[in-house]
Amino acid sequence: MKPAAFAYHRPRSLAEALDVLAELGADGKVLAGGQSLVPLMSMRLSSPAALVDVNHVPGLDTVEVDQDTVRVGALARHTRVEHDEAAYAAAPLLRQALQLVAHPTIRNRGTSVGSLVHADPASELPAVLCLLDGHVTLRTADGSRDVAAEHFFRGPMECDLRPGELAVSATFRRPAAGSRTAFVEVARRHGDYAICGVGAVVSPDGAARVALVGVGDGPALVRLTDAEDTGRTRSLVDAAIEPEADIHASADYRRHLAHVLVRRCLDEARAA
Ligand SMILES: Cc1cc2nc3c(=O)[nH]c(=O)nc-3n(C[C@H](O)[C@H](O)[C@H](O)COP(=O)(O)OP(=O)(O)OC[C@H]3O[C@@H](n4cnc5c(N)ncnc54)[C@H](O)[C@@H]3O)c2cc1C
Repeated sequence: MKPAAFAYHRPRSLAEALDVLAELGADGKVLAGGQSLVPLMSMRLSSPAALVDVNHVPGLDTVEVDQDTVRVGALARHTRVEHDEAAYAAAPLLRQALQLVAHPTIRNRGTSVGSLVHADPASELPAVLCLLDGHVTLRTADGSRDVAAEHFFRGPMECDLRPGELAVSATFRRPAAGSRTAFVEVARRHGDYAICGVGAVVSPDGAARVALVGVGDGPALVRLTDAEDTGRTRSLVDAAIEPEADIHASADYRRHLAHVLVRRCLDEARAA
């Protein structure tokens, strides 16, 4: 199938991109890696009047690591983030999750920030942004704002991005020293979106946080003060998720997976 007709803009600077987006307002959509948007357009599930292709805007393909954070620019491809050694040393969870995102060919083109904006409920990176107390930085021609992970994801394929805004970066906080992390999931085939996925950060004192994907409208964050208490863990997970049935799995199976994967993820993180 072919997309509906659309206007195409290729800005050469950030200022030009923001001006074009301001002019287009709700008619404009950013094109980053195109790995989600282009299939949606081809299937006519999305028909933006205009695309703003930011792939030729310099300075957005960065991965910056400092004492507290890993900051990923809008054009940093999944592969770039996955293989960045400084980012891995600061926050191994990024690589642990990215290795499960699609196939290498898609990771070579798809961007991590694009994945956050796309906000697929089965996507791994929204869970990572929640677990690492991250935020997304949104720019317009007039200014910028940071939106914390807990407020950014609004529902399936919906985030707090306003017309005219460009997500210029995502910032992930390094977990506390001595923390251990893991990401596990079950998908029908390697590289498919997960039926259910779970990321975990286990603090040196044994407290843990897990985030589940594929079992609700967006990432479901659960804080476990005593991750050893299996019964309590089960009820906290049950309260946080709202699994639905689709052609891949029943709601009951997804709930079952959520419990199994939380346990598996915590074990893997502790053994890391
Ligand atoms: C077969 C297949 C399997 C996949 N499996 C997985 C998976 O298992 N897990 C997973 O997480 N993802 C998966 N993906 C999606 C992949 O990770 C995409 O790369 C990602 O979802 C979107 O990134 P993108 O750069 O390609 O964005 P695009 O497709 O270019 O854009 C996606 C959406 O985000 C908006 N957008 C993108 N960047 C910005 C920005 N900087 N500012 C404002 N708006 C922006 C676009 O306007 C559009 O609405 C899969 C894709 C395919 C084709």
